[in-house]
Amino acid sequence: MQPRGVSIVAIGDEVLYGYTVNTNASYLASQLVKRGVFPVRHIVVPDAADDIEQAIRGELGAGHDVITIGGLGPTLDDLTRTVVSRLFNRPLVPSAVVVQDLLKRYGEAFPTISDQSMQPEGAVLFLNQVGTAPGIFLEDKKLFGDSRLFVLPGPPHELKNISAQIFPIYFPEPKEHVYELRFLSLAEHDIDPVLRQLQQQFPYVRLGIYPSYGLVGVHVSGDESLEVVEKLSTTFRRFLLHDSTLEAAVLRLLLKRGWTLATAESCTAGGLSARIASIPGASDALLGGVVTYSSQGKEEVLQVPRESIDRFGAVSTQVTEHMAAGAKALLHADVVCSVSGYFGPSGGTQTAPIGTVCATFSLPHKIVSQSLFFKGTRESICEKTIQTLLAKLVLLLQE
Ligand code: ATP
Ligand code: MG
Repeated sequence: MQPRGVSIVAIGDEVLYGYTVNTNASYLASQLVKRGVFPVRHIVVPDAADDIEQAIRGELGAGHDVITIGGLGPTLDDLTRTVVSRLFNRPLVPSAVVVQDLLKRYGEAFPTISDQSMQPEGAVLFLNQVGTAPGIFLEDKKLFGDSRLFVLPGPPHELKNISAQIFPIYFPEPKEHVYELRFLSLAEHDIDPVLRQLQQQFPYVRLGIYPSYGLVGVHVSGDESLEVVEKLSTTFRRFLLHDSTLEAAVLRLLLKRGWTLATAESCTAGGLSARIASIPGASDALLGGVVTYSSQGKEEVLQVPRESIDRFGAVSTQVTEHMAAGAKALLHADVVCSVSGYFGPSGGTQTAPIGTVCATFSLPHKIVSQSLFFKGTRESICEKTIQTLLAKLVLLLQE
């Protein structure tokens, strides 16, 4: 049997024009994949009744389930309920359950109760526990066969509240489990040949590779998944990330060793320590960070010798080694990570062009320095730098 496909239809000019990033679609899609259901389309349509109707009709007609996002509120641009009521020939009628719920939570004076309680006749409703618009479930075998329609509100916390009610009922626990493995500091081309080999050996397994900076994710599902997961974990054992994020792994490994950490940052300006500080309990290991953006700051705060900056340049491993030593002396940390780089769009030198990043990792038993190079915008180079440093820290700490 062909597995059920799901189309996610986001409704709204603000998403279409790029003012709002479609995080709801990525949330829903990833939740579905976790349940072994694979989305087939992401569609975005404007706040225009014809476009909304055409998209929903087309996708239901193609045999897909449809989940719509947004346009359920009481304002003039909110058309979703009107459109689905027309599409399914179910007039909007007041729902006593919704009226009661809204009265209980918002009181008589709430202005839009009568509007918000109008729902397609006979629809299954899911009360919104954190907002006003309920989620709607509709199906009609005569019109759309087995295809089903789920209508969700746009505000992300409301969408999560209602999808958490809907998923267990209509997308029950996965028929097939999807294993997610994440590997540190490996590139796509390190893993791809191994995946191709495994695909040949296990033709019924479904493999996906999802690279991002500092990490590459591999999804494994289908028959013989366990064997494949086992083989991948063994082949790349050293690189396997066991935590939900890189920063969580750094913190866990520091605590395991009983080591403290400090950072000395130039180009990332505190971004690295901020990532680690975002983990609850970070203060058990993170002692602090020093941001020295100027050469003078590096000299005066971290005692980097002027000659070293003049001779090797502010972006050099010689300088980051001095930065690490300076921060270690200042904060008495067991581990220090220092970083200096040119993120552009101006600056850079002949030997260290824009995108060059130097880093030093000073550990109790050794000092490792690295020179890296990233392409991209100022913002993206910064993001890639921080990801890469965190990944390298994890690898060094688990050695
Ligand atoms: P409301 O009752 O608040 O009007 P609604 O169901 O009508 O809710 P929209 O008006 O379409 O939803 O969107 C409300 C807000 O939800 C938007 O301003 C935006 O911040 C957020 N939002 C809408 N769609 C998305 C989306 N696809 N991804 C992320 N956020 C979204
Ligand atoms: Mg709205």
